[in-house]
Amino acid sequence: MKIIIIGAGIGGLCLAQHLRASQIEVAVYDRDAGPWDRKQGYRLHLDADGISALKAALPGPLFALFEATSMHPLPYTTIMDTSFAIQRRFQTDDYSKTQHHLTDGIAQHLNVNRATLREILLQDLEDVCHWDARLEGYETDETGVSAIFSDGRTARGTMLVGADGAGSALRRQRAPDAKMMDSGARAIYGRLALSDARRVLPPHALADIFTAAFDTRKLILGVGPVIYPMAPDQAARALLPQARLRTQDDYIGCIIAGRKELFGDDEAALRAASSDTLQDLASRLLAEWPSGAAKVPRAGEAGSFFYVEMASCIPFDLQPETRVTLLGDAIHTMTPSLGRGANVALRDAGLLRNWIVKHHKGELSCDAALQAYEREMTTYGFEVVRRSADMGAKLLGQDPLSPS
Ligand SMILES: Cc1cc2nc3c(=O)[nH]c(=O)nc-3n(C[C@H](O)[C@H](O)[C@H](O)COP(=O)(O)OP(=O)(O)OC[C@H]3O[C@@H](n4cnc5c(N)ncnc54)[C@H](O)[C@@H]3O)c2cc1C
Repeated sequence: MKIIIIGAGIGGLCLAQHLRASQIEVAVYDRDAGPWDRKQGYRLHLDADGISALKAALPGPLFALFEATSMHPLPYTTIMDTSFAIQRRFQTDDYSKTQHHLTDGIAQHLNVNRATLREILLQDLEDVCHWDARLEGYETDETGVSAIFSDGRTARGTMLVGADGAGSALRRQRAPDAKMMDSGARAIYGRLALSDARRVLPPHALADIFTAAFDTRKLILGVGPVIYPMAPDQAARALLPQARLRTQDDYIGCIIAGRKELFGDDEAALRAASSDTLQDLASRLLAEWPSGAAKVPRAGEAGSFFYVEMASCIPFDLQPETRVTLLGDAIHTMTPSLGRGANVALRDAGLLRNWIVKHHKGELSCDAALQAYEREMTTYGFEVVRRSADMGAKLLGQDPLSPS
């Protein structure tokens, strides 16, 4: 039994940790030259879907390291007007319509640094992660499945899992009828050092899970803090010395998002724009706000800004197929308006592991295990896609999901 995972992102690595813990052979392949080859994004909000999956996947000392490096924010999503006056303060479980948010009866929320989470997920997987491996397709036969990479390499396993994100190459072959759509929403994403954020943001914005202000154009300025209880490198030295985590500073993630027309009509130029250009554009978009919100992106860290195009999948019927399945953004890509994509990818990883173990123990066939996983995963996954689209329409003017 050997599982081949395509994609060393949040969901793929979590599944690899689960399988390692269950003593099932695993190999992970990623197109990037290494884990830090490209900007990974900044703050991620994890709810109990994600936290429970990580708790089940990680060995105890590694989960302790995850907890030590995760911020416990106040459990609120706060909405402000353009003067930064508070309009509403939602319990985040109500805001994100989280259904699986209770662990031992307690709602849980953590703000984590994506790169630190990925570093933790990579621990003890160095020997099974293969970089510079871009999947192009696969072939199945009676005894297994072969993943085929762009440089001609192949990898052979019993099952193949596509965890290769929103642009999934594996999905194109596994689910040729699946359709993605441009949501019409765009964002500029960057970060502020904590000391600079203190000068330009109200105090609750440095404590709550997420704070957002809107104008009548549905342009949003959103901020979310990552203030480490223990600095990651120090936490690793103290709690798990063999896990080397890189030094990180406290920061506030900052997103300026809205309809794509607000950002200009030259999308190619925006994709190629430097961080400085995007930081300047973000400040100009907020120039008229009475709070002086333009000073927020202006106080951002040089070099930290990049452009994000938001896509969504259109929910569809995933037909069964032998030995090959999908998880995370590779199947249920959603816009980040509920901040749930990573949580659902982590939940998928835990669920898939459970069905693979049942198959491994001989309780049911490979096909039956994958079909049971896919039935449950597509039910909750596509539901979150729909809810994210509804929230995105309300907040950002996201286009409605086109009928399939
Ligand atoms: C601005 C923004 C903010 C967000 N905030 C939140 C949040 O607060 N909370 C939350 O839950 N979610 C959030 N999300 C969503 C979250 O980032 C994604 O849902 C999550 O990363 C999906 O994980 P994944 O493992 O499925 O895919 P990814 O993390 O995208 O990983 C995919 C991996 O596959 C690799 N890959 C791609 N193609 C190939 C190929 N052909 N061959 C080999 N490897 C390949 C990539 O290099 C990558 O490493 C946010 C998203 C955005 C854009």
